Amino acid sequence: MSQKSVVLSGMRSTGPLHLGNYFGAVRNWVGLQDRYECYYFAADWHALTTDYADTSQIAENTLQVVADWIASGLDPERSVIFVQSMVPEHAELHLLLSMIMPLGLLERVPTYKEQIREIKNKDLSTYGFLGYPLLQSADILLYRAHLVPVGEDQASHLELSREVARKFNRYYGKVFPEPKALFTPTPRVPGIDGRKMSKSYDNAIYLADTEEEIRAKASKMFTDPTRVRRKDPGHPETCNLYDFHKLVSPPELLEKVARECRLAQIGCVDDKKLIAEQLVEFLTPIRERREALIADRDTLLDIVTEGSRKARERARETMDAVRSSMTLDYREILAKVTR
Ligand code: SF4
Repeated sequence: MSQKSVVLSGMRSTGPLHLGNYFGAVRNWVGLQDRYECYYFAADWHALTTDYADTSQIAENTLQVVADWIASGLDPERSVIFVQSMVPEHAELHLLLSMIMPLGLLERVPTYKEQIREIKNKDLSTYGFLGYPLLQSADILLYRAHLVPVGEDQASHLELSREVARKFNRYYGKVFPEPKALFTPTPRVPGIDGRKMSKSYDNAIYLADTEEEIRAKASKMFTDPTRVRRKDPGHPETCNLYDFHKLVSPPELLEKVARECRLAQIGCVDDKKLIAEQLVEFLTPIRERREALIADRDTLLDIVTEGSRKARERARETMDAVRSSMTLDYREILAKVTR
C-alpha cells in the first residue's frame, strides 16, 4: 500500500480544454504525479448540473477532456485517471452526506449565487445545481483525499468539504481526513480580448487548435491600448499579448520583446507574428498527441475503464467504512444475527 498522500482533483467535462485550463490546473497536476498518489477525474455528473437539458455531448466531451490531459502529460501509469459516473459510489456518498448537510451552507456558497445571477439562458433553480458543492465534497471525501490542488484565490472552495468531513466524523466516528488545500502557482491566463480566458467569452485558445486557428487568434489579440502609433513606446507590463509571452516564450525572447517594445523598435503586428510562432511551437506536440488519442477510441476507452476500476477499489473501501460507521452495513448486521 502506498504511503504517499492522496491528491484528488477533477474538471467538468464540458468540452476541449484551453490554455487557461492547462496553465490553471493540468500543468500542476502533471507535476504532482511523482510526489503523491494522484486521482484525476472527468466530472461528467457535474457537467449535468448545467447541461441537463441536452446531454448528447457529455460523453464525447468527457473523452476529449481525458485526451487533452494525457496529451498534456498526465500519465495513466502514474495517476488514476477516471470518469466520475463510472464510479457510482460518488452518488451514494453524495446522498448520505446530503442528510447531514445544512441547507443554509449550500445556499451561501458564493459561486451558487453568482452563477444563478449570471447564467440567464438556463434554469439553474434545480436540486442538482444547489447540491453540486456537496457532490464536490463527496468526490473528495470518497478517496479520503489529503490534498486538493487549488489556486491561491480558491481556498474557500474546500471549506465546505472540510466542514462536511468534520460533521460526519462527529456523528459516526472518524472516517474522513480533513482535506487540505495544496496551493499551486497559477499564472494569469488572459483571453485574446484581455478578459479572463473562458469558453463562454469566445476568447480562448484551445489545445486542439490548428496552426491556422492559432495564427488567426494571435492576429486578433488585444495589445497595449496606449500604444496608438508604431513609433510610440509600448508597455509590456500592461500589454495583454505580452502575458502570452510570459506563458510560452523563452526568457531571452521575453527580455528582447520587452526591451524593443519600450524603445518602439518592434511593432505590435510583428509581435503578433512572434507570439503566434511561440504558441504554435508550444501547442503542436500537444495537439498531435491528442489527435492520435482521439483517433484511437479503443485505447482511450481502455484507459478510462482501467482508471475507473482502480478508483472504484479505493471508493469501495471508503464506502465500506462509511456504511459500517453509520451501522448501515447489512453484512455486518447479518453476521451478528447469525452468531
Ligand atoms: S510590441 Fe508586443 S509587448 Fe509591445 S505593446 Fe505591442 S504587442 Fe504589446
